[in-house]
Amino acid sequence: MSNQDFGSVLALHGGEKTIKEKFARYSPIGEEEVKAASEVVSSGVLSQYLGCWSDDFYGGPKVQEFERQCETYFGVKHAITVNSWTSGLVAAVGALGVEPGDEVIVSPWTMCASATAILHWNAIPVFADIENDTFCLDPVAVEKCISPRTKAIMAIDIGGQSADLDALREIADKHGLKIISDTAQAPGALYKGKLAGTLADIGGYSLNYHKHIHTGEGGVLVTNDDELADRMRLIRNHAEAVVEDKGVTNLVNMLGHNFRLGEIECAIGIEQLKKLDPLIKSRQVAADQLSEGLSGLKGLKLPVTRKDCTHVYYVYKMMIDPEVTGVSRNKIFEALVAEGVEGLSTKFANLHLLPLYQKKVAYGSNGFPWRSDVTSREVSYEKGICPVAEDLHDTSYLGFLMCLHEMQYSEIELIIQAFKKVWDNLDKLVDD
Ligand SMILES: *Cc1c(COP(=O)(O)O)cnc(C)c1O
Repeated sequence: MSNQDFGSVLALHGGEKTIKEKFARYSPIGEEEVKAASEVVSSGVLSQYLGCWSDDFYGGPKVQEFERQCETYFGVKHAITVNSWTSGLVAAVGALGVEPGDEVIVSPWTMCASATAILHWNAIPVFADIENDTFCLDPVAVEKCISPRTKAIMAIDIGGQSADLDALREIADKHGLKIISDTAQAPGALYKGKLAGTLADIGGYSLNYHKHIHTGEGGVLVTNDDELADRMRLIRNHAEAVVEDKGVTNLVNMLGHNFRLGEIECAIGIEQLKKLDPLIKSRQVAADQLSEGLSGLKGLKLPVTRKDCTHVYYVYKMMIDPEVTGVSRNKIFEALVAEGVEGLSTKFANLHLLPLYQKKVAYGSNGFPWRSDVTSREVSYEKGICPVAEDLHDTSYLGFLMCLHEMQYSEIELIIQAFKKVWDNLDKLVDD
């Protein structure tokens, strides 16, 4: 067998791998962040918060500076930093005044915290299906999930682009609901000229290590509503100890937490936010290169960006049609992984299928809050309630995580080569 032949045999079948070395890990952290962090460390004040009604209730100088910078960047009245976006989601749901047994409609195609933030307040997540091209909440499915107990819709800007906020807003207004945008994966994405996350009543972003920009852990809430902002700041910092001195009269959900982000993280965040636009641009360039290289492979559907919107590519989401490829998505995935392509996945959560929801065991062992007198109906998490999301997971979804590596031109060319090699050999792939 000549070298040429050997190179054209799939790595899955003992041939040579297309990608022989691991790519460099993605890191947006540079000298600027090192300097900013060490200045804070040298100052000795790593956090300046006090959990009582005082000047320091809103945090120290870096917290303030980062929040004002976020307000400018996102064009919102209030930006509120928190120690994770999971905390941010909890604060958002609580601030809306969601009560035990109330329902919040959410996508099953998201990170688990979107839904547990609802459960946190003993409210009930109701899963609505997604659009099969953008993977975001399908407004038609949302409307079908509305009940007399529905209080809010949690839209997830999943993978890097916004949910259909105009359509969701129309539904929300018609039924008197609020909207939360979980924009963890789409900071800087545009929805009809406006930044994703800023069109909801409350939106926000994650600053964890895997996101476009990061501070290790962290999150930022955004809103234009003064009262909601106030309530989120209270939940962030021990509300119950502050309400009296601050003269707060609405005590609903005013049991607070410590969701405070420190001075070091905020100093790093200030430098990170300056880099967001160029980082987004580089991912868009990489995604365009991928799309050009992968176009025309039969049965492979490339990412779709909603009309009049932009995509910031946390994940590059493809779909495989096994009827056209003649072999399952899972087998193709195996072949691509064997070629050395890192960052591919066939799975994304169908949250309703997690044991938590299937068994309805969250608080204690007796099914609280589902099986209790705070609820007024049985909400179903049966397989089949979100057919689009389930089918994507079971048969067609193929995601490529853009947050794993620095996207170099030559590396993307190798990824394209690996795909082409697998596609050249589709007839040699046999399902187990
Ligand atoms: C990352 C992420 C979260 C959670 O953010 P953390 O900062 O890690 O708590 C929530 N929702 C989505 C869609 C995410 O991607």
